[in-house]
Amino acid sequence: MRKIELHWQILIALVLSVVFGYFFTEHVRHVAWLGDLFLRALRMIIAPLIFSSIVSGVVGLGSAENLGRMSAKTFGYYLVTSLIAAVIGLTVVNIFKPGVGADLGLTESGVALEAGAGTFGETLMNIIPTNIIQALAETDMLSIIFFAILFGFFATRVGPKYRDPIEKGFNAIFEVMMRITMFIIRFAPLGIFGIVSGIVAEQVDDLVGIFSRMGVYMLAVILALLFHSFVILPLMMKYLGNINPIKHLKAMSVPLLTAFTTSSSSATLPLAMEAVEQNSGVSKKVTSFVLPLGATVNMNGTALYECVSVLFIAQAYGIELSLIQQSIVVLTALLASIGAAGIPMAGLVVITIILSVLGLPLEGVGLILAVERILDMFRTSVNVWSDTCGAVIIAKSEGETLKV
Ligand code: ASP
Repeated sequence: MRKIELHWQILIALVLSVVFGYFFTEHVRHVAWLGDLFLRALRMIIAPLIFSSIVSGVVGLGSAENLGRMSAKTFGYYLVTSLIAAVIGLTVVNIFKPGVGADLGLTESGVALEAGAGTFGETLMNIIPTNIIQALAETDMLSIIFFAILFGFFATRVGPKYRDPIEKGFNAIFEVMMRITMFIIRFAPLGIFGIVSGIVAEQVDDLVGIFSRMGVYMLAVILALLFHSFVILPLMMKYLGNINPIKHLKAMSVPLLTAFTTSSSSATLPLAMEAVEQNSGVSKKVTSFVLPLGATVNMNGTALYECVSVLFIAQAYGIELSLIQQSIVVLTALLASIGAAGIPMAGLVVITIILSVLGLPLEGVGLILAVERILDMFRTSVNVWSDTCGAVIIAKSEGETLKV
């Protein structure tokens, strides 16, 4: 009962925040703290939550064989779905050709884009932390995941005298973290009100102008995202796991709405874990392996968005890309989406990497800035949706009985 109520509360908060942001633009700063508080609370729990969940999940897997099988399935799912998403993006942008005749006068230069822009190689290297405490302090997700898997795995290698207290201890910490998560989720409507009214107020001046200039590009991105989310992923759920996609979608309403408003897969992770476990009935073992990894590695929406945007920029500059170059776009978009962090605008930053790989003008990024915030909301929801679909499919393949 509470779940349905919360879901409606969030929707009502969304509608109210749009109205408030639009009509009371000056007063938005008085409610912005609600959003900040909510995001701070979510960030607070991410590191302890993923660390404890992965350790207890991996210890629960018990053997190297189980861990290997689970990793193979998880990475297989990430790669296949990201690749499909990227190809859908490419196809749609070739059909719509939104960049042809686009207004290049829009170009803004001097955008600060260094943050988070690491090459794929650097990202790989940084997975191994030089200092795990620092990694935890900075919520460096991939490093935390790496160390937690290592720790959990070797905890199964020591005798029961040591393994048992570790297992019990981390299970206990995880349960407490989940309770804190549920507590924070109750404040989601207030947090979302604070965040969304801020976004609306920021964009309100130029809303009509943005839509008329960038309409076709936005439409191409959103249509491609919808196709991936509501056709490809449901088909995979149905045929790979005999899962009811509509039931699963309903079960995911709170994390999806949160992903939409926060534009951050990482911030949404605690909510996604809670919903996948409680509403869809996936075991802790699978949830704690698939979701934390997925939040940083599996970004279907981002891969798709990058393909559409890079091609859009090329079209706007009148540059024809050959089939081989377009395949390079798909491949780099795939790798870049793996490297991108689950934070707002990470996808925009990695676009510059693809542009430089292809020798396209970097200022092209200026073309898509105006609608970046809005499209980030859509692609982040798809990123999170795909993670949760992966969790139910993998749980089913492990023989679990689910609620969806
Ligand atoms: N905001 C996205 C996420 O957190 C990443 C991106 O910018 O594409 O999933």
